[in-house]
Amino acid sequence: MLETLRRIVQEVATAENLEEALDLIVHRVKSVMCADVCSVYLSDPASQTRILMATDGLNPNAVGNVRLGPGQGLISLVCERSEPLNLENAPDHPGYLYLPVTGEEPYHGFLGVPIVHHRICLGVLVVQQRERRSFEEDEVTLLVTLAAQLSGAIAHAEANGGISRLKAWTLGGDKPFRGIPGSPGVAQGTALVIYPPADLDAVPTRTTTDIEGEIRAFNTALEATREEIKRLKERVATLPIENQALFDAYLLMLQSESLIGKTVERINQGFWASTALRDTVREQTLFFAGIEDDYLRERAQDIRELGRRILMNIQSKTRGPRIYPDRTVVVGEDISAVVLAEIPHECIVAVVSGEGSSSSHVAILARAMGIPTVMGLGDLPIARLDGCNLVVDGYQGYVYVDPTATVTAEYARIMSEDARLSAELTELQSLPAITLDGVRTPLYLNAGLLSDVASSADGGAEGVGLYRTEFPFMIRDRFPGEDEQTGIYRKVLEAFPGRPVVLRTLDIGGDKTLPYFPIKEDNPFLGWRGIRVSLDHPDIFLTQIRAMLRASRGLGNLSILLPMISGVSEVHESLELICRARDELLEEGLRDIKMPRIGAMVEVPSAVYQAHVIAKRVDFLSIGTNDLVQYILAVDRNNSRVASIYDCLHPAVIQAVQQVARAGARHQIPVSVCGEMASDPAAVVLLVGMGLDSLSMSASSIPRIKWVVRNFTFKRARDLLDIALQMEDSKSIRGMLCEELERAGLGNLVRNVR
Ligand code: PEP
Ligand code: MG
Repeated sequence: MLETLRRIVQEVATAENLEEALDLIVHRVKSVMCADVCSVYLSDPASQTRILMATDGLNPNAVGNVRLGPGQGLISLVCERSEPLNLENAPDHPGYLYLPVTGEEPYHGFLGVPIVHHRICLGVLVVQQRERRSFEEDEVTLLVTLAAQLSGAIAHAEANGGISRLKAWTLGGDKPFRGIPGSPGVAQGTALVIYPPADLDAVPTRTTTDIEGEIRAFNTALEATREEIKRLKERVATLPIENQALFDAYLLMLQSESLIGKTVERINQGFWASTALRDTVREQTLFFAGIEDDYLRERAQDIRELGRRILMNIQSKTRGPRIYPDRTVVVGEDISAVVLAEIPHECIVAVVSGEGSSSSHVAILARAMGIPTVMGLGDLPIARLDGCNLVVDGYQGYVYVDPTATVTAEYARIMSEDARLSAELTELQSLPAITLDGVRTPLYLNAGLLSDVASSADGGAEGVGLYRTEFPFMIRDRFPGEDEQTGIYRKVLEAFPGRPVVLRTLDIGGDKTLPYFPIKEDNPFLGWRGIRVSLDHPDIFLTQIRAMLRASRGLGNLSILLPMISGVSEVHESLELICRARDELLEEGLRDIKMPRIGAMVEVPSAVYQAHVIAKRVDFLSIGTNDLVQYILAVDRNNSRVASIYDCLHPAVIQAVQQVARAGARHQIPVSVCGEMASDPAAVVLLVGMGLDSLSMSASSIPRIKWVVRNFTFKRARDLLDIALQMEDSKSIRGMLCEELERAGLGNLVRNVR
């Protein structure tokens, strides 16, 4: 059964459009379940009906013409209850509705399962049998599993225009794909799909005018693959002849007309060599996968393996400096912070990622760079977007593909409004972040690249509250040495003379891995992360601390921040190593080395409970709400499926932050917030009310947050905090704070608030 399911899912995944996918499903399911009918009905929210969209067995003319309203028939019952319905004799059921147009009179056995996506029933997958029959349990589970697999594709099509447009399954129009806001702002540009190498499924649909060049690239790659296989064959020459036969078979396949001819034919139609190869391999894989004979079915794997090798050879010749379109929108299945950091900033106007959420590091980096970003668009057909015109709305998490003139005009208006607001806000640049009743809350910069430090030094930040040192580590192909690191840190410290600069020690692990130091774990966010790696690698840690101390000579504005502290012993061990690094440098004759201020991040729940003891041993605390929220709420910060429950205004988070603020006050050390909570206008009102000593955020957030601070009194913020602490869920807290922002005349910012 599993094998059958795998094959159906594989076939459906390669369908060109939803109509084809639905047709495939009904044919395959009818055949494997030996049913007389299989159909798919989809819900149309606009007309509140369920429409027959595909069938194998009922009258084909009924497709698109059968509409069932609320409470009508067994299909509506399955949808409304969101539960499977397995009936031996459907006409006996009180909910049965006979529809002459379908010609379903003779059918008795009925099994309908709901197609559910994010709690919403999108439709029903149903099989029917002429004779009376109750379906077996494994048939029910097969149908339930298939419906679950189908739900993503249907949700995507719905987001793209509702089922009235399913048949065309066109991408463009005035209906957006909906994702998660990653970085605020709006932009329009041309999609450039970034995809991992040697992955056929990730190859985008790209066209070319250089047909000859592409055919040449394909032939060269074919030849290189043949040579590789011959070399492999020589290496196994000592093995029995039957083991060598596989390589002969590979060589034959590499000469086959079905591979070469079909690919060249596709290139001649104007497709890029990699795209043409992708489609030929898909076609052949499907052909073999559909064969009943086990041996022949295995050939599907061989074709994929050969396809992957040819693709690698095409890519090895065509990789080189990439040309970015004007106004590039970077699009990919899973765009990482490394990928983003590698692309020249000036070319990128927006980022769209299939995976991730607003707390993923790529979103954080995009905010630092001021690039509108939408995350978690799992249903977006990424491969088909290359070269498309996109409008990206990073406020609401919308992406429009080839938008209509109306959409374009509306977004042009929003862009010019944004530009006007930004111009107004720049007037605040030189003014302090001070409440109407005179309480100062300095705003610091979160940065990770030298370029964002340089461009933000005059942008209204009073210092650097968090410099993520792992970013410069991520864009290199090896650990940077002590001198190289000293140079980087010196530039950051020099950009803010006389103002505090907090350099955080290496925080790798979780979703931040170094290409040259892979960490493979089942549960990386609960694994070898942050200070745990540094303490296990004193060699790496000491080099970094030495570089920071050397960089600070004569400047005196360095603070060092320790990430992922979960208990006092980690603070002790870190302090010992920091003192050791300082002593070494003094011994080496660098007499002007000073001990910097040392701070601990509070981003693990245990550190909240121990904040009062940690506070005794450090000079300051910095609350990393990005991780704190994920660990307190048990919500993966990168998982778009649970992004709607990742909320820094959850009462448990507010209480935790307040507890840390109080621990700092008791021990008279400053406490700041450097997670994204400090960029959320609604949350900032509460943070001001808690009396936090500073807030740290990306450059693009500073003007807006300054606007918030300057429009509230400390007293009002404290009262609102008291009100929020009485509330029981984040929705009511956010609602209350958004109303308050509106009242204070900051309605424009509410658009920014989730
Ligand atoms: C945090 O967790 O809030 C934080 C600032 O660190 P990072 O986002 O780099 O994990
Ligand atoms: Mg963190």
